[in-house]
Amino acid sequence: MQKKENEYNDSCCDMTSDLDCAGATTYGRITLVGTGPGDIKHLTKAATEAIEECSVIIGYSTYLKQISAMLREEQEKLHFNMKDEITRCEAAINKSMEGKRVVIVSGGDAGIYGMSGLLLELLEKKSLIGKIPLDFVPGVPAFCSAACSMGAPIMNDFCVISLSNLLTPWEEIEKRLDFASKADFVIIIYNPKSAKRKDELTAAKEILLKNISKIRPAAIVKAASRPDEEIVITTLEHIDEFSLVSMNTTIIIGNSTTFVKDFYMITKRGYGNKYQL
Ligand code: SAH
Repeated sequence: MQKKENEYNDSCCDMTSDLDCAGATTYGRITLVGTGPGDIKHLTKAATEAIEECSVIIGYSTYLKQISAMLREEQEKLHFNMKDEITRCEAAINKSMEGKRVVIVSGGDAGIYGMSGLLLELLEKKSLIGKIPLDFVPGVPAFCSAACSMGAPIMNDFCVISLSNLLTPWEEIEKRLDFASKADFVIIIYNPKSAKRKDELTAAKEILLKNISKIRPAAIVKAASRPDEEIVITTLEHIDEFSLVSMNTTIIIGNSTTFVKDFYMITKRGYGNKYQL
């Protein structure tokens, strides 16, 4: 099913318009913008344009700070705390109802553990899907940035597993770790640790070790693609021993073909099976 732009009453709604086309509410567009790994130079051109064109910008304060240099004085900036995601979406909906052009920023890509799904769920509950014009602008996900820091560790099938049990029961996470390690995926771990969750990474490692050799290459990347980036290349048995593991860290555990050479972690794509390399 294709989204029909003309279903929205967007034609009489520009950046500055407030309300009402012939009595009906004129909703302003909401654009979900992925801001990438955190350094402004990794914003896409489309993300930059969306941010420049909006009149209201909404986001977690850390993400808004990261892009503060490109924001204009007259743009309304709504800073929120980390766990205020629902309030952020409600603020965006209210501003859209005032006819304002709104951007919600979300780190990495907004559709990967980000704000896009929550906004759509809320709009669905409020019967506003199809009424508010929406756009989704891709951002560079953190696992791409982390992978680029060490060459090519994700050259074959992979999966991302978040260790945060705030919204997903821990038993589900355990099941995914078990199945992923049995299936020889490259396994990417998000949210390995936070101030409150300190033991999950060790618990996850123990599950992986049931199916994967303890000397399997693994990399830990903190603040990928940011000026303070730090990388450690190690093996599965040691992933929980480093102080750089935090909320801003991604861990990549190779599959059975992954090897390390100098600063590079390389997962084989399979060319060697087919061609003489
Ligand atoms: N939407 C994001 C993911 C949000 S979940 C994306 O597209 O990637 C938050 C997790 O992403 C963090 O706990 C961390 O594991 C990872 N992450 C985000 N930014 C990162 C960075 N610059 N370096 C390393 N990991 C990062």
